[in-house]
Amino acid sequence: MMSKRDYYEVLGLSKGASKDEIKKAYRKLSKQYHPDINKEEGADVKFKEIAEAYEVLSDEQKRARYDQFGHEDPSAGFGGGGFSGGGFGGFEDIFSSFFGGGGRRQDPNAPRKGNDLPFHMDIDFIDAVFGKETEVEIPREENCETCNGTGAKPGTSPQNCSHCGGAGEINQTVETPFGRMVNRRTCPSCRGAGKIIVDKCTTCRGAGKVTKRKKIKVNIPAGVDDGQQLRVVGQGEAGINGGPPGDLYIVFRVLDHEYFERDGDDIYYELKLTFPQASLGDEIEVPTVHGKVKLKIPAGTQSGAQFRIKDKGVKNVHGYGQGHQYVVVKVVTPTKLTEKQKQLLREFAEISGDIPEEHGSSLLDKIKRKIKGE
Ligand SMILES: [Zn+2]
Ligand SMILES: [Zn+2]
Repeated sequence: MMSKRDYYEVLGLSKGASKDEIKKAYRKLSKQYHPDINKEEGADVKFKEIAEAYEVLSDEQKRARYDQFGHEDPSAGFGGGGFSGGGFGGFEDIFSSFFGGGGRRQDPNAPRKGNDLPFHMDIDFIDAVFGKETEVEIPREENCETCNGTGAKPGTSPQNCSHCGGAGEINQTVETPFGRMVNRRTCPSCRGAGKIIVDKCTTCRGAGKVTKRKKIKVNIPAGVDDGQQLRVVGQGEAGINGGPPGDLYIVFRVLDHEYFERDGDDIYYELKLTFPQASLGDEIEVPTVHGKVKLKIPAGTQSGAQFRIKDKGVKNVHGYGQGHQYVVVKVVTPTKLTEKQKQLLREFAEISGDIPEEHGSSLLDKIKRKIKGE
């Protein structure tokens, strides 16, 4: 398979391009490569590439996902599918809106896919690491069961709008200096639906939809990180006029852990050591998400020193290996000392001298060099 070009590159834009810039670039390029205009070989392929890039970058949600994951949308991995679902979903509309040709309006009664539904889900730190099968309750619009989604009282049915004859739009003739022009606009009487509900269903008050909380099984993928999302096909809002339902996008928010911190697939842990432990060395049991691990602290360990415990981090969500755990040492200065301890420390200080050896050579020099701008 040919590798896919970056969408920004296709449109000749930089990553931070504004909505307007994207629109302009698309207009210019799509005209240039339009197969009706450009008869060069490969123009049609380029035209398609441009349209696809525009479809993603012009949609805020799709663009955000693309910026995060590139062509490798992880939701495609766990949910099946990928970006645009049906390929060129909004292509027809974009095209006609720019070229003014045809202007084929969708039949208001045609089946349409329901809206995709975003859902933020807070998950436990450890569940994000190992994954979990769980259930969430999601509020979503469903077709009203009383009226089967028509909005009309059972036994009655919506009437064709008399104002527009069921077309959902009306032609308006306007006299202009250039002659008579016909404008098409949405019917104000039925707001484009083409139908009017005379006897409204009492359950949904004519909306045809009701908000219900539905329990959905969710498989939290092992290794998922904060902000990543999972696509659950067919669990979005109900379809319109019998169309297929939209998809559910679960956006994970990983909650903080009491003492672990995560950076990608690596985990950080702060280990507090006493001054004697750090100076004399020790062997310590350190918690990891995979259980306790023995760690040897060498004599003379400084505050801020890092130790790596191999493969004790998070298994990559896409299967690219395993992270590590980093143990960051913090030497704790005691705050409450007994008289005996104080006495011993004074003796210790007397033997050692007052100023730590490195003081003059490293830290002060560093500061001096910084001031000089070296
Ligand atoms: Zn109803
Ligand atoms: Zn109407």
